[in-house]
Amino acid sequence: MQNLYSRIRILLVIALLSGFFSVNIIASPTSLRVEPPFWWSGMHNKELQLVVHAKDVATTTVKMEYEGITIKSLDKVENPNYLFITLELSENIQPGSFNISFIEGKKERYKYKYEIRSRKQGSAQRKGFDQSDVIYLLMPDRFANGDPNNDSQPGMLEKADRKNPSGRHGGDIKGIVQNLDYIRNLGVTGIWLNPLLENNNEAYSYHGYAITDFYKVDPRFGTNKDYVDLVDAAHQKGLKIVMDMIFNHCGINHWFINDLPLKGWIHEFPNFTRSNFRAESLTDPYGAEADRARMLTGWFDTSMPDLDQRNPFVKNYLIQNSIWWIEYADIDGIRMDTQPYPYKEMMSEWAQRVFDEYPNFNIVGEAWMQRESMTAFYQKDSKFGNGYNSNIPSITDFPLRNAITQAFIEPEGWTEGMARIYYVLAQDFLYAHPFNNLIFADNHDLDRFYTSIKGDTDAWKLAMTFLLTTRGIPMIYYGTEYLAEGEEHKGHGEIRKDFPGGWQTDSLNYFTASGRSPIQNEAFNYLQNLLKWRSTNKAVQFGKLKHFIPQNGVYVYFRELDNKKVMILLNNSSDAQSVETERFKESMKGVSRGRNIIGNKPFTFRNTILLEPRQALVIELETE
Ligand code: CA
Repeated sequence: MQNLYSRIRILLVIALLSGFFSVNIIASPTSLRVEPPFWWSGMHNKELQLVVHAKDVATTTVKMEYEGITIKSLDKVENPNYLFITLELSENIQPGSFNISFIEGKKERYKYKYEIRSRKQGSAQRKGFDQSDVIYLLMPDRFANGDPNNDSQPGMLEKADRKNPSGRHGGDIKGIVQNLDYIRNLGVTGIWLNPLLENNNEAYSYHGYAITDFYKVDPRFGTNKDYVDLVDAAHQKGLKIVMDMIFNHCGINHWFINDLPLKGWIHEFPNFTRSNFRAESLTDPYGAEADRARMLTGWFDTSMPDLDQRNPFVKNYLIQNSIWWIEYADIDGIRMDTQPYPYKEMMSEWAQRVFDEYPNFNIVGEAWMQRESMTAFYQKDSKFGNGYNSNIPSITDFPLRNAITQAFIEPEGWTEGMARIYYVLAQDFLYAHPFNNLIFADNHDLDRFYTSIKGDTDAWKLAMTFLLTTRGIPMIYYGTEYLAEGEEHKGHGEIRKDFPGGWQTDSLNYFTASGRSPIQNEAFNYLQNLLKWRSTNKAVQFGKLKHFIPQNGVYVYFRELDNKKVMILLNNSSDAQSVETERFKESMKGVSRGRNIIGNKPFTFRNTILLEPRQALVIELETE
């Protein structure tokens, strides 16, 4: 294998040097590959597309026999090393296995034992993450190194180098499993893991967004079974797992890129052509076709070939892959990378097919847009789709994130401070399902939140209080709980630093209270208190939202469900403020007291409520 990789590497370097950006690196397959490697009985969709890859496999005759399976079509493409076999599975097909034989003349040239597995009980009814959850985002390479022996692997191009901010640092699945109690104890209810699948690339392979095998966990993180065990262990602790998937592109060293099946598998150009990253052009009524084409077909990076999801083979390959991982690993949700970048018709069909199999599942699409309206377009049932429906229930709320990073560190104004948040939420009429928005203060691509707010701990507390009490599904990026800092423009390594204590040689250990500084513990405890309370309060999770126009830097809102009510008061002003209770009477009928969650103290209402400078109150209301 090492020789093959070296050869690919040399050819790749030649290709890069010659500026030749249609991929034409031909590497003959050395063995038979069939994907998906196995499937299940009793799935909603009765069709199954197998991609078969082996030297000259298209010249063979396919023979297989299994009760309840028929070959619907057998497609040969330009490259004789591929066969696409579409199977039809009957309703009552029994679990079992059978041989697929590839015959040449009278000789069996290849053989694959295909397995039809039985589904886990209740698999189709699995419940995806929702507003009751708070998702913790972590980058597996940077969280904890549970197995230092797997950091570098023979046959894999990039070796571990912890001194390189852009290199692999050795974090792995075992490290996550070892710290599940820490994550659960923080009070979150789910984990979104940046991609874990194989990224056998020369550099920057740690982040996982240049996949070279869609069916295999990267050995530097662990095995497929390790991943399944992680999901199982997380479930036992009451934590959901959200898997990160990418349909827009794959890694340049993906096996099917090294031996392309046909023209139209990826977008090819005479010279390297990068996407313009302007997803806004797609919904722009005045958008130029040239801009839209560049957005959709340009490559994300030189190392990331852009897949053509209009090709039915590519489309089925990706859709089946996502369903395979849900069924195989028992995950609770998908985070789809770069949602606007693949063709939107394919994304809609994909989501529909996932929900046909799992009606109660959830998907969040990364729609990194600058405005509310453009974000709303990518959510299921958009009112402005003009006939288009993405079928994706949840989308990333970047407009709200942008407001959060500014609102708590600037003086109040007509459109500044709390008004900034007010104006974002006041546009929720644009969204079909605003309560399904994924809300956050930062993520793996953005300045660390504590840096955005210039290390202002009061602003941090106000923002975290807001994030965990407003509408939506909150997401917390690892490190937020210990006030991690980092600026994106200095390199992604700065915002994806190793979790101190995740490596045996670390001198600091932020996994324990004694390892954290007093100010870090203050932040951790503040967040933990809110998270644990949020996980028990249905009104703050699902309740309707009513907010009052901010006045003098004070933003007041209510969450209400059935007879449960929560009142939140955020004083963003650096002065003490007193607010008249009378103004909120439409939401306070029969209320005279409550309990302030922050500090866990009884709270008695009088005609005025006094707020200390930059104080947050979260009051569970008691009605008489
Ligand atoms: Ca490791």
